[in-house]
Amino acid sequence: MRPLPGLAAASVLLWGCGPAAPRMAATPVPEASATAGVSSALRPTAGASAEPEPIPAGRASPPERYDDGVDVLHYDIELALPRGSGWMQGHAALDLRLDRAVTAVDLDFSGLHIDEVTVDSGPVEWHHEDGLLSIPLGSPAEAGARHRIAVAYRGVPDDGLILGETVHGDPSAFVDNWPNRTRFWLPSVDHPSDKATARFTVHAPAEWDVIANGRAAGPPVPTPPEVPGPSVGERRTWIYETAVDHPTYTLVVGGADMVIDTVGLAACGEAPVSPRADGCVAVTTWLFPDSRAEGASSFRRAADMVDVFTDMIGPFPYEKLANVQSATRFGGMENSSAIFYSQQAIAAGRDIESTVSHEIAHQWFGDSVTEADWSELWLSEGFATYFGAVYFERVDGMESFRERLAGAARAYLTSADTLRPVIDRRGDLFDMLNRNSYQKGGWVLHMLRREVGDDAFFAAIRAYYARYRDATATTDDLRAVFEEVADRDLARFFGQWLRAPGYPVLSVSTRDLRTGLRVEIEQVQGDYAPRFHIPVDVEVTWDGRSVRATVPLEGAGGVWIVPGAPADARVTLDPDGWLLHRLHGSPPSP
Ligand SMILES: [Zn+2]
Repeated sequence: MRPLPGLAAASVLLWGCGPAAPRMAATPVPEASATAGVSSALRPTAGASAEPEPIPAGRASPPERYDDGVDVLHYDIELALPRGSGWMQGHAALDLRLDRAVTAVDLDFSGLHIDEVTVDSGPVEWHHEDGLLSIPLGSPAEAGARHRIAVAYRGVPDDGLILGETVHGDPSAFVDNWPNRTRFWLPSVDHPSDKATARFTVHAPAEWDVIANGRAAGPPVPTPPEVPGPSVGERRTWIYETAVDHPTYTLVVGGADMVIDTVGLAACGEAPVSPRADGCVAVTTWLFPDSRAEGASSFRRAADMVDVFTDMIGPFPYEKLANVQSATRFGGMENSSAIFYSQQAIAAGRDIESTVSHEIAHQWFGDSVTEADWSELWLSEGFATYFGAVYFERVDGMESFRERLAGAARAYLTSADTLRPVIDRRGDLFDMLNRNSYQKGGWVLHMLRREVGDDAFFAAIRAYYARYRDATATTDDLRAVFEEVADRDLARFFGQWLRAPGYPVLSVSTRDLRTGLRVEIEQVQGDYAPRFHIPVDVEVTWDGRSVRATVPLEGAGGVWIVPGAPADARVTLDPDGWLLHRLHGSPPSP
């Protein structure tokens, strides 16, 4: 995702004051009158009930928590939503496979009242405390055994499912999970290492449009009156299902009065799970009626972005790509096939195209190839930062790309995050939203591209995606793919840039040799950072001519003697912007 920068006061004043929406051809949602196919597992209830205290959001679990022998294969989720704030009702059936013999299953679940838990349709006693729902399996289950655990629940979610109003004052419901807030609305194994498919059955106020991951199983149908849930009058039921595994943090539902527009078709013939006969994915926007005019321009190249990334990285991983105005706390959140964007940013008419390319790049990296652990978040955010910028390199040219890279370097170099490594373990997962995961992570990819060359870089990126698509990966997995493709050892590159803190601070001095110029480069960063093994491009210019060389720094300094260069020649380090560094004595402007 992208954090939400503060909105300027002037922008805030624009809310609701924009021009009337132009007449655009909205994509109609087909109406259906039948209620056939709507079956409900919700329990009849009298409304809200006492709810347990929620745990803090974003707390990291001990590493062993998810090495528990439980693999969730599928979530079958049913939700009955209120119109705006209020209580909701849910039922989640989880298909699990046990990787080893266990006697109980722990699910992450916080702050909602539980009505019933069943294992393979039989009610069981459960224990729910401190955000963990422990479910006994009776006799120890065998490795390889499969079970279906179902949980019926209700209440007012403390987080994760945001029930309230849009910026325009209309009722809405939007899921916002990152990093591990799925547990506040869905009993789950809420960690990126355990991906699963999902099916959503959502009963919502009849005037809403409801989006979720995957493909719509059909048009919405009137909700049968006997389906329990909060009283909202007329309802419609929407069903979505995913063909491929998703991390729990991208499993989402969103509902509000929205206008659906088609931006274009993309990835034609390169979208293996598209339900469309033409093999393309539909790229759409789902905007609030009062934001439609303000929002459209930021998404005008969204289908082109999907095409560019498909060509560059590999087939589009999902059924469709909806771009949704939502209640996410972030500027954008890359939910698989249904990206959620800040409703405030769109309503204010801000240009969020950079966020759009970042979130679309996440469909491949983060969503389809998911970091196996939060400590390696750069595999998601560094990739989205870099490929989000590479889109502009391909389409708008090198100047736009270099500006983005320079901005990322400044953001990193001026931060205290330089004192910690990129691969890092934090107790509060929100602390991983830092300039190591994003900007330095993106720069590591840029420097890796320089290290192995464009051909090997993009071949390795394609191979990495092909190998870990719909699965999880680690930094070592990425390194192994690059080493295979580039046919060289990259342990030192990955180690110095990702497992150690800091960056090179380079000092340049020259000495006139009369027959030429001696250029010496030293590494003068503090002892908290390693001495880097890096190639440094150097350009020396005098009398309208320039010469270049690459000076290898091997854990120390380096020297280049430039024949014929005078004492007043100009020396430029890294003229093409391939190295994350700072010149000694010239602090980066913030
Ligand atoms: Zn991101």
